[in-house]
Amino acid sequence: MSHQEHPQDSPYDVVIVGAGAAGLSAAVMLGRSKRRVLVVSLRNRRNSPADRVNNVPFAHGTPPAEVYAKMESDADSYGVEFIWDTVLTAQATDEGVTVGTRESGTFLGERLLLATGPLDRLPAWIPQGEWGRTVFDCPYCHTREHDGAAFVAVGAGEETLQHALLCRQYANSLTAVVTDPDSAHSDLAARLVKVGAQVLVDTVLSATTRDEGGVLLVTEAGRELPAGAVVLDTAIQEPNQLLPSALGLDLNAHGFPRTTLSGRTSHPRVYNTGKSNPSSPYFAWTGAASSGLNAARAICEDIAFG
Ligand SMILES: Cc1cc2nc3c(=O)[nH]c(=O)nc-3n(C[C@H](O)[C@H](O)[C@H](O)COP(=O)(O)OP(=O)(O)OC[C@H]3O[C@@H](n4cnc5c(N)ncnc54)[C@H](O)[C@@H]3O)c2cc1C
Repeated sequence: MSHQEHPQDSPYDVVIVGAGAAGLSAAVMLGRSKRRVLVVSLRNRRNSPADRVNNVPFAHGTPPAEVYAKMESDADSYGVEFIWDTVLTAQATDEGVTVGTRESGTFLGERLLLATGPLDRLPAWIPQGEWGRTVFDCPYCHTREHDGAAFVAVGAGEETLQHALLCRQYANSLTAVVTDPDSAHSDLAARLVKVGAQVLVDTVLSATTRDEGGVLLVTEAGRELPAGAVVLDTAIQEPNQLLPSALGLDLNAHGFPRTTLSGRTSHPRVYNTGKSNPSSPYFAWTGAASSGLNAARAICEDIAFG
């Protein structure tokens, strides 16, 4: 299919901010629906530091950059346009939406789809290059690749203990380091101890990469914990509030835009998709992609039905 040429000052049907799982899935569907779509994004997706994508049908084991390149190429083949830049501002009125970038100017749309993902607020102690390789916040995506390693779960309390239990089958030794003393006396902690794990009330202060692989964690109490895999809490994921705040969207209790399952926000021209809150039913990469499709469908129906 050939690309359609659009004058720069003509509004796009949809401007999508964010070219990750959610934004690119939406872009392909909207492009195939013959909607005029602009995607504005940077290329650092959440899973970009990882070597491979896991648990994603047909892409399992593929490097993330390859997956995104294929999705970009699919979208491009349906006439979706791309601008690789930071979006700094967004406005929505009854007439339309405006998105302002750092270097590429301002773009107008009939509708705006935010697909910017959460922000990962990583502990300062993670050594360079270990996030996404040795250190993760998900007990499902990359733990299997560390089968037989020493596992350490690090975080506040309950979720840390849950993550430790979910990694038990891979771990040749298992430690949970929690900052909340009460959680060390919980049923989850007892369950961990019963399966041979240790539960420590302590705080990780620093870490170094080991020559033999993995990291060495050093705690406030002076403990040294070698780890082949470290699993953090999902609390490191924070809402990406820049654009929702600029747009004045209603937020949920976690600070993410309040949406329907189809991504409709409190502004009728603005949709939000991807990881929209910690209890979102859209889990992991395929969930984010699925939420992008749902938002694209809602936008198509809005355009068609008025
Ligand atoms: C290290 C790691 C490994 C993972 N591995 C897996 C895995 O193997 N399998 C799995 O199922 N899940 C995995 N995940 C989870 C998965 O990556 C996420 O669920 C998924 O990427 C979320 O998709 P998204 O589209 O919501 O956000 P993202 O993929 O993060 O995409 C958001 C996009 O928006 C852009 N953006 C944000 N703000 C702006 C702005 N202001 N201007 C311009 N662009 C902006 C970002 O640069 C990015 O391109 C992993 C997560 C991490 C952290």
